[in-house]
Formats: sequence, structure tokens, C-alpha cells
Amino acid sequence: MNILWAPWRLKYIEKFNEKSEANEENECVFCKIAQEKNDDANFVVTRSEHTFVVLNIFPYNTGHVMVVPYKHVPTIEDLTMDELKDLMRMTKLIVKALKKAYSPHGFNLGANIGRDAGAGIEEHFHLHVLPRWRGDTNFMPTISNTKVIPEDLGTTLNKIRKALNEILRDERALDL
Ligand SMILES: [Zn+2]
Repeated sequence: MNILWAPWRLKYIEKFNEKSEANEENECVFCKIAQEKNDDANFVVTRSEHTFVVLNIFPYNTGHVMVVPYKHVPTIEDLTMDELKDLMRMTKLIVKALKKAYSPHGFNLGANIGRDAGAGIEEHFHLHVLPRWRGDTNFMPTISNTKVIPEDLGTTLNKIRKALNEILRDERALDL
């Protein structure tokens, strides 16, 4: 599939290659991002006690994020209730932030467990949050095998962080 107007893409292909090499040494991309504490460069939106939220560097749509537990486990039943609660709390928060930042018409939430189910990084469980717009699966991808991603990832990162900060500020204000 061709991507139109994607000036940022080369940088991410390079990054992906680095990550692929890291994978050959059995280093997990999510663990690496979690440990590096280089959140701007890694497009980490936010972190909590057990979870971080990161932009998908090959997004299906603008605002496509992944909610990832720090714990390196392949499947949901390996997470404790505390870790699951935190994961869902962060999922709720990021859905709110995406609504505020982008006003999508809907969302897909989901996880692929196991390579045969489509998991790209099967050794480390993660939940996809994908904003959807009416018509986003329309004729462009179908007829021309081309998908338009209208925004670079740095801009997306800033917009989601801003919305998230506003939500957290409002929630704190409500608590008072
Ligand atoms: Zn991992």
C-alpha cells in the first residue's frame, strides 16, 4: 500500500529497521521503549504505574495508539487484576483524549494474541485503540491501494498530550 504525503516516513522506516535488528537479538521493542525513558523520540503519549501509551508508528489512522503493560507477557491472562485495572483506566483516558483531540465517529479497541491472530509483536501483550471516521475505509484505499495519513506523528503526539492534560486537569478540579 502506498502512503500519500508522509514526509516523516523515512525516519520511521529507519527506526523500524533499528528495531528489527534489536528484535534479532531478542530485545523486545515495547520493553526497550519502556526502559529508554526517551518518550518524545519514541512517541510515548503518557505513562502510569503499570502501563504506557504509545503511538503506532505505522498507523492505520491518525491517532492509532497502543496501550501497553510494562510487564513482558504474551497474553492477557498473565496480567494481575491491578495491572488490568490500570490498563483499562489508561484505555478509558486515551479514548477520552482522542475524542477531545479528533472527534472521531467511533473506535476499534482490540488485541491480537498470537502470531496467527495477527500479532505483530506477539511476545508482549498490547491493546490497540483505533479512532474511526465515517468513510475512512472508503474508495481511496480500495481502488488505488493508497491511504492518506494527513498528519505527522509529532503533531499527533502533541495534540493527544494536550487533550490528555486538559482532561486530567479538569478531573483533578472536579475532585476538589
Ligand atoms: Zn517486552
